[in-house]
Amino acid sequence: MLKYISTRDKEKAYPSAYVIKTGISAEGGLFVPDEIPELSFEEIRKMTDMSYQQRAALVLGKFLPDFTSAEIENSIAAAYNEAHFDTQSIAPLYKTSDGVYFLELWHGPTCAFKDMALQLLPHLLTLSLKKTEDARTAAILVATSGDTGKAALEGFKDVPGTSILVFYPGEGVSPMQKLQMVTQEGKNVGVSAIHGNFDNAQSAVKTIFTDEKIKRLAEDKGFFFSSANSINWGRLVPQIVYYVSAYCELLKNDEIKLGEKINVTVPTGNFGNILAAYYAKKMGLPIKRLICASNQNCILTDFIRTGVYDVSREFFTTMSPSMDILISSNLERFLFDICGEDDRKIREMMLKLKQDGRFQVDDQMLAAIQANLYGDFCDEEETSQTIRHFYEKYAYVCDPHTAVAAGVYEKYVKATGDAAKTIIASTASPFKFAHSVLRAIEGSVKDQLDDFALLERLAERSMMSVPEQIGTLKEKPVRFDQIVEKEQITQVVLEMLDR
Ligand SMILES: *Cc1c(COP(=O)(O)O)cnc(C)c1O
Repeated sequence: MLKYISTRDKEKAYPSAYVIKTGISAEGGLFVPDEIPELSFEEIRKMTDMSYQQRAALVLGKFLPDFTSAEIENSIAAAYNEAHFDTQSIAPLYKTSDGVYFLELWHGPTCAFKDMALQLLPHLLTLSLKKTEDARTAAILVATSGDTGKAALEGFKDVPGTSILVFYPGEGVSPMQKLQMVTQEGKNVGVSAIHGNFDNAQSAVKTIFTDEKIKRLAEDKGFFFSSANSINWGRLVPQIVYYVSAYCELLKNDEIKLGEKINVTVPTGNFGNILAAYYAKKMGLPIKRLICASNQNCILTDFIRTGVYDVSREFFTTMSPSMDILISSNLERFLFDICGEDDRKIREMMLKLKQDGRFQVDDQMLAAIQANLYGDFCDEEETSQTIRHFYEKYAYVCDPHTAVAAGVYEKYVKATGDAAKTIIASTASPFKFAHSVLRAIEGSVKDQLDDFALLERLAERSMMSVPEQIGTLKEKPVRFDQIVEKEQITQVVLEMLDR
């Protein structure tokens, strides 16, 4: 039976329920499956006639053998339905030109692709608690720079056996992202701004995970701390599904033949989304190239080209904030796989990264990296140009993150001449970033429009309607207006446990 091992110690193996409950391995490694299950052409052919939910059940079943099919099907039904997603197809494809398809992953409750995983994770987590006979309440702590916080709040709201607390940098998120969080509904949720930046929030939350005294206090009250970010395997496995499903859709629409290899382009930050595509490829989905798109924080582009990962560089704040990341956590899982699961090698590289902010892979690994990945980036100007280009040429409006991917894809075609059909992961609704998108389309936003007027203007321009969950934020009462010093985070967490 498929089990999970840590990238930094592969001796012990764990069932998936344990891995989803725990999030990260005790010695700091990430959990990965000890074998990649196979997906045959016959199965792919069968899946073309299935719904998104049925395809999800088939893929998830392969990775979660300690869950019953009823458990998996019920979780999927509770996550991917029309109460939560504004389209029956859940993750629709939009064809702009021959061979280019945008895989829209933002039709869920918070308009970002994080919903694809965070709608399902709470169900998998509560089942995991039952399976491991754990009666404690999971206290989910999240530090966010925007999208993850809101998606996690929506996913965990009113889920029995869980409580969630989100910290965000008071000055570091967009106005819409902030409104989305401070108006959050639900009985088991809490949101707090902190004075400081995202790194301050993140490190304060991380210290709580390793603070034995707080952990004991939590234990006495019947809680344990858990994580909802993409180091948790329970967030990755739902992402494999949409790549498989997209391939099936292309087959169904006669866009490709069974076995025809396609490319996948992914706007990348923490390397979770593109890693899911890599696992889909390893399972047997006919994928040729994984195109890793970065914004101006192009540490992954440099790494793919040179084999040197070097954090000591300027950090840019861009219009694609969810990709403003220098340490891509999930890269560790990819490296573990391509170096032949050498946990000692991974321990060494990750230690170097921690101590020197830098590591380098050997030639053999670099060749394996380049055989799978193509890396490039778009700066801010190129990103704006891409938004405008797709708007003018195809009347298609994409958000800045998606535009980074689309721009890199065009560079890839120019550089290689590769004409294989390509899926571009579209990771956020343009309405979440209305100001940047309008500025790109109109050249500048001349009038002083407030955030909601910007939405209306973008709706006119794009001939799409404002997503209800964003348009109605205006009327929602603010529930969480507290802002604390980072030294007070522990106090806020303890208060949550007493609620
Ligand atoms: C999180 C996010 C990304 C980056 O995804 P990773 O899995 O972290 O690489 C890209 N675009 C948007 C809109 C996001 O929210």
